[in-house]
Amino acid sequence: MPTPGIVSKLPDVGTTIFTVMSSLAAELGAVNLGQGFPDFPMSEKLTGLVSQAMRDGYNQYAHMNGYKPLLETLAEKIESLYETRINPDTQITITPGGTYAIYTALTTVLRPGDEVIVFEPAYDSYIPNIGINGAIPVRIDLQFPDYRVDWELVRRKITPKTRMILLNTPHNPTGAILRPEDMRQLQEIVKDTRILIHSDEVYEHLIFDEIPHSSILRYPDLLERSFVSFSFGKVYHCTGWKLGYSVSSPEFTKEFRKVHQFNCFSCHTPSQVALATYLKDKETYLSLGAFLQKKRDFFARLMAGTKFTPLPSYGSYFQLYRYDRISDEPDKDFAIRITKEYGVAAIPVSAFYQEEKDDHVIRFCFAKKEETLENAAERLMKI
Ligand code: PMP
Ligand code: GLN
Repeated sequence: MPTPGIVSKLPDVGTTIFTVMSSLAAELGAVNLGQGFPDFPMSEKLTGLVSQAMRDGYNQYAHMNGYKPLLETLAEKIESLYETRINPDTQITITPGGTYAIYTALTTVLRPGDEVIVFEPAYDSYIPNIGINGAIPVRIDLQFPDYRVDWELVRRKITPKTRMILLNTPHNPTGAILRPEDMRQLQEIVKDTRILIHSDEVYEHLIFDEIPHSSILRYPDLLERSFVSFSFGKVYHCTGWKLGYSVSSPEFTKEFRKVHQFNCFSCHTPSQVALATYLKDKETYLSLGAFLQKKRDFFARLMAGTKFTPLPSYGSYFQLYRYDRISDEPDKDFAIRITKEYGVAAIPVSAFYQEEKDDHVIRFCFAKKEETLENAAERLMKI
C-alpha cells in the first residue's frame, strides 16, 4: 500500500526570509541586522517580576481570555492613550504573540472566496493566512519610495466580495506610518459596507519624532468593525516570549475566542502576572519611542559614511536603504552577497511581495546595541 500523501494547502510557501537570513548570518558569523529582534537585554525589572510570579506559584493555566489583572491594566492603558473605553472581560484576549492574534482574527471571519485587501510590501504571514482560509488576497502596492496608501486605488479595488482590509502601522518593513488623514479616508471607504479591518499594531509604541500613533482604537466607528493585534514581545524587547493580545468588539471577541479556545486555549501565566504589574508604570511604554529613535539616529549617522541611501523611518525598528550607488543586482542576491562577503545580514524587501517586485532596497533592523551597529557600519563602509 502506498503511504497516503497530502496536497499542500500552501503550495507557494517556502521558508520565511527571516529564518533564511538568520540561519545564514549564524552560519557565517555575520552581524545580524536582518530578522527583527533586539540584541540588548530586556528590562531586568520585568524579568524579576516573572521570576517572582513563578516563585509565588503562578504556574498553572491562566484564564483562557488572559490573566484578569493584565486585561484590566491593558484597558486602563488603552483609555489613557486613546481615550477609548474597552471592556477588559469582553474585548481583550491574550494570545501567544501577534502572529497568532492575526491568524486567529483572519480565521474567525474569512470564508472561501472572500477578498482581502493587503498592501505590499506586506508582513509575510498575511497572504498565507488569507490563503489557508480559502480567501483571496487583493494586493495593492504602497507608493514607492514613501510607501503611502493610494486610497483612490483602494476604492477601485473594492468589489461586493471585499471582506477585509489589512493595515499595519507602524509598518514592517518600511517604517512608514498611517496618519489621521489616512484614517479619514478609511472611514469614508468602509462606512455603509460590510468591510472589516484587521490592524496590525505590534510596533505600537515604536514611533518617532513625537508623532502620535494612529491606532484604530482611537476611532470607535472603525473599532466596531476591526480586530487589532498587539505584541508584548516586539515592544518590551522579549520577542522570544511570544505573547500578545487582540482587541475587538464584544461580538467579534466572542467569535475570536471560539477559535482561540481550541487552538492555544491559554497563554504563559507568569509573564502575564509580571506584565500586569509592570505596565502600571506608564514610563515603561511611553519611553520606548525615544529609546528606539536614538538608535535610529545613531545608525543613520554611522550609515552616512557608506554608499547606502536611507529612506525615512517614522516607526517600527527598521529602516530601508537603497543600494543603487553600489550595485544593480536583485535585492535577494545583494543581501546574500553582503552577508557572505562583508558579514552583515539584512532583509531584501522583495521578500514582502508576492510577485517579483524589486525596488533595490534592503531592510536593516536597528534595535541593536551601539557596538553591534558600529560593527555593522564599519563592515558596510567597505562596500
Ligand atoms: N506583525 C508584524 C508586522 C511583525 O513585524 C511581527 C513581528 N514578528 C508580528 C506581527 C508578530 O509578532 P509576534 O512576534 O508577537 O508574533
Ligand atoms: N517580525 C520579525 C521581522 O520582521 C520576524 C519575526 C519572524 O521571524 N517571524 O523581522
